[in-house]
Amino acid sequence: MDALFHQAYQNPSKIAIVDHTGSYSYQQLIEKTRSLASFLLQDKEDLKEARVAYMVSPGLDYVAVQWGIWMAGGIAVPLCITYPFPSLQYVIEDTEAELILVGPEYEQLLQTYAEDQSKQFIRLADGIPNQTSINLPSIASHRGAMILYTSGTTSLPKGVLTTHAAIEAQVITLIEAWKWTSQDYTLCLLPLHHVHGIINVVSCSLWAGATVQFVYPFDAKQVFEIFLEGKVTVFMAVPTIYFKLITRFESESERRLAEISYCLKKMRLMVSGSAALPVSVMEKWQQLSGHYLLERYGMTEIGMAISNPYEGERRAGYIGQALPGVKIRIVDENQKNVPEGEPGEIQVKGPSVFREYWGKEKATRKAFTSDGWFMTGDIATVENGYIRILGRDSVDIIKSGGYKISALEIEEILRKHPEIDDCGVVGLLDEEWGELVAAAIISTEKLDLKELNAWIRERMPAYKTPRKYIFLTELPRNAMGKVVKNDLKILFN
Ligand code: ATP
Ligand code: MG
Repeated sequence: MDALFHQAYQNPSKIAIVDHTGSYSYQQLIEKTRSLASFLLQDKEDLKEARVAYMVSPGLDYVAVQWGIWMAGGIAVPLCITYPFPSLQYVIEDTEAELILVGPEYEQLLQTYAEDQSKQFIRLADGIPNQTSINLPSIASHRGAMILYTSGTTSLPKGVLTTHAAIEAQVITLIEAWKWTSQDYTLCLLPLHHVHGIINVVSCSLWAGATVQFVYPFDAKQVFEIFLEGKVTVFMAVPTIYFKLITRFESESERRLAEISYCLKKMRLMVSGSAALPVSVMEKWQQLSGHYLLERYGMTEIGMAISNPYEGERRAGYIGQALPGVKIRIVDENQKNVPEGEPGEIQVKGPSVFREYWGKEKATRKAFTSDGWFMTGDIATVENGYIRILGRDSVDIIKSGGYKISALEIEEILRKHPEIDDCGVVGLLDEEWGELVAAAIISTEKLDLKELNAWIRERMPAYKTPRKYIFLTELPRNAMGKVVKNDLKILFN
């Protein structure tokens, strides 16, 4: 954990955080962090991996709370600020958090519950108490640091316990691969209870001694205004955010468009991840901004594992190669490496891998092979040295009539149709075929199914052609903008 504060101590007057309340130096961040850690340790020497749940808006206080919990020896359990009460309760009870820390906006939501459950309830509205610094415990790197919940795309979110060492490995890998320095300035638009926001954006930035500006809630107009200030050097987002920015772009005047494009071109890096980046979004963004988005692949359990190169060709539709320090293999059902071009499961080994699914010993055991590889459940192929994701084994790989069909591949083709704005492909249970390919289409036009089928048949073999369609105004997505395929399947009934 000391490494986290290293840059901060080196350059205390540097601005670490910009939020809606102002700009704060590393010195101010460290002081707040120490105060919070001292407050948490009023009657103890070490929180000894006690879980501390916190619901705080993105900004200085958020980071100080998280770092303060770490400094005091606790496990940080971030709560999503947009969750309804039952989802918060699920996380608090699943982690058995004894302490709940809340920003003023969220007090009402949790206070009665905390009192009923006799949990310690700490209000940030009273300010982080200005405690005199006490001796802080020294925290061994193998200790638990954080429980993040998976996005819940395939089933109930699972609590993933990551150690300090794993977080450090995740951050150092990205700093090296994407060349973070203290000169960088980044924007954080992403939720902070998933790795994308908290590790890739916030932790990398602060570890490198750079500046992170929080923008919450997401507002495309405000994001463009910040871009126009010309300070941002690194930008990371999920595909749906790029999609929204493109839509906004298209409503701007030509003059303003040129100004924004000029500022975007000056940035050094723009990254996309968390879900497959549609080739159409990558191409459109390239036309507007001059940037080939760097697409990467990761998971709550492993941090980032595979990435297109920082220097060198970023291939649309591919996630790239293993990141430094991460071991990757792609294997068949017998755990044998598959030949190039053949599909197999991505498995990962290395210091960035999580310790356990919290309270789920059996699930943890089932997630690893006997020789210690983490089984991601994601299916991929290698083509000319680049890895291509075919989807999740459980929902995106459709098993139909003896074939294994990638839903993502069909979605990519459907998106090329001039009248299709977006789509989601799933497999529906079918007596004859096992599963049947079905497509949900988002289109403002009334599509003729016969014509659509003919168009599709010119582009893919019959066994991949969707047999069932529904037309929707939007796809069911979770907080990370990922399509929840199990919810989508229900809509076909
Ligand atoms: P749950 O595990 O609860 O079902 P989840 O897997 O979506 O949810 P996360 O850990 O947030 O939870 O997401 C990891 C998954 O996101 C990966 O396993 C992969 O399926 C998907 N993913 C991440 N990056 C990419 C990418 N670049 N392209 C395609 N899929 C991606
Ligand atoms: Mg998952």
